[in-house]
Amino acid sequence: MSLLSAQGIDKRFAGITALEDVHIAVDEGERVGLIGPNGAGKTTLFNCLLGLLRPDRGQVSFDGGDITRLPVYRRARLGIGRTFQRVELFSGSSVRDHLLFAHRIRQGDGALWKDLLGLGLPKPAEIDRCDELLESLGLGGMGDEPIEALSLGQSRLVEVARALMTQPRVVLLDEPSSGLDRAETTALADTLVRIQAEQGFGVLLVEHDVELVASFTERTYVLDFGRLITDGPTPEVMDDDRVRAAYLGDLAVEPS
Ligand code: ATP
Repeated sequence: MSLLSAQGIDKRFAGITALEDVHIAVDEGERVGLIGPNGAGKTTLFNCLLGLLRPDRGQVSFDGGDITRLPVYRRARLGIGRTFQRVELFSGSSVRDHLLFAHRIRQGDGALWKDLLGLGLPKPAEIDRCDELLESLGLGGMGDEPIEALSLGQSRLVEVARALMTQPRVVLLDEPSSGLDRAETTALADTLVRIQAEQGFGVLLVEHDVELVASFTERTYVLDFGRLITDGPTPEVMDDDRVRAAYLGDLAVEPS
């Protein structure tokens, strides 16, 4: 049984068919990619999985239960984490505060209001979790740094740390390489591989950077004009003529 899945998803926007009869599944601990050209429907599918959009047809399931009608925060509490493509930073806060604040927003246990009123002190276990994650992501010792001092690559890792604070069972990564150069993307891929192996969460990676998808994922789905054109083991998918025609063009990719 898949951990997170969607079956028969249709989504239309004012006459535009963004998704048609799409299915996708991520198993426990699996690294799955989702690629496709601009406008293929990747973000729409991502948002249907997260609960930001309600599909017109089809079902989204998590751990065997139907979550199609659950709001975003209930899905987050079940164990679905996400990162944002645009790094959302609260200027003026330290890296550690940033993680703690984000963690409390997601917990939704009222601690956030205490924080806003200056009444809530982070628990030692929360601080430990924060510092452990920063260490694992190669940002050890950066907890007290102002968030603005980070490079874009480091900010992306803080986004990942933020998603992992609640120990999700699956994490949806939204174009983590966006704006990064090749060296930064390679470093990000190495870190993602390491932390995923350590912590064992499932991943759905939505990416334009096919090299990152090729190096990180085991299986890949390909969308084109709102329809799945293929899915399977990533090296086979990258070699598929339909994928090359629809997406890769003449770009030669050597899957690792
Ligand atoms: P990109 O790689 O450029 O981010 P994508 O694969 O994520 O593209 P989507 O953003 O999901 O594609 O868009 C799929 C289709 O749905 C596109 O034709 C897009 O214009 C349309 N679309 C997406 N969101 C909306 C919306 N809120 N209102 C109207 N049309 C939308």
